[in-house]
Amino acid sequence: MRRELSGKVALVTGAGRGIGKAIALKLAEQGATVLVNYNGSRERALEVVAKIEEAGGSAEAFGCNVADFEACGKMVEEIIGKYSRVDILVNNAGITRDNLLMRMSEEEFDTVIDTNLKGAFNTIRYLSRYFLKQRSGKIINISSVSGVLGNAGQANYSASKAGLIGLTKSVARELASRGICVNAVAPGFVDTEMTKSMPEKTKEAAVGTIPMGRMGSPEEIAETVAFLAGSGSDYITGQVICVDGGMAI
Ligand code: NAP
Repeated sequence: MRRELSGKVALVTGAGRGIGKAIALKLAEQGATVLVNYNGSRERALEVVAKIEEAGGSAEAFGCNVADFEACGKMVEEIIGKYSRVDILVNNAGITRDNLLMRMSEEEFDTVIDTNLKGAFNTIRYLSRYFLKQRSGKIINISSVSGVLGNAGQANYSASKAGLIGLTKSVARELASRGICVNAVAPGFVDTEMTKSMPEKTKEAAVGTIPMGRMGSPEEIAETVAFLAGSGSDYITGQVICVDGGMAI
């Protein structure tokens, strides 16, 4: 059976768990061969690969710290050597190091920017040459409502996610004439390990700011990513789609 993403190769960063895992499973369900990037979670990335293969799909895990420019170059080289192409790039890898500005260390600021923003630059920088040659491609950057609205205690994270929006719009303008679409998805408050560690009171307060009155699921984010990865979004570029239960209205 031919599916929307049959024959496509998708690289999803940070796909061993959380939103990245849901995206990897969704793209595989749509027929894509999924390259599951991980940094610390090797076992979990292998489990995602196994799950995709058990369902009849095709996947492979690639370890790489996306914040490392040279390591990203090596990962892309290995991927192109094996698969010859990448059609879909999802920059999902992300971290938080929350703190109030007056207490935030330089290290807390730098590591978040390096992973969340520079990490996306790194993969786009290496893969865009192949997208340009193919004259097609879908780049989807996972931003956040924190990057759209700002968030107290997240100056580093919000700056990285707002930066991702600027990166998305600039690269979208640069690559549009070659049939390459670059968009961002800005999730709201999603139930993953990133939010599980929050104190219960903070969580309740956050849910209180969501017009729909509940957290989102990783699968709900994956649905939008799958739409942006497919042909139904071929005339959409440079956009930020908030998937947030109305948080950013
Ligand atoms: P999570 O459960 O904490 O997962 C984070 C993922 O990022 C993991 O797969 C992790 O891989 C990967 N990662 C972190 N640093 C990496 C690095 N240097 N190189 C490669 N991969 C790295 O978080 P999540 O909630 O699924 O978040 C996924 C994305 O959605 C992030 O960009 C996050 O900012 C964004 N987001 C989340 C929410 C939310 O409410 N959860 C809201 C808005 C936006 P390893 O485990 O292999 O290290």
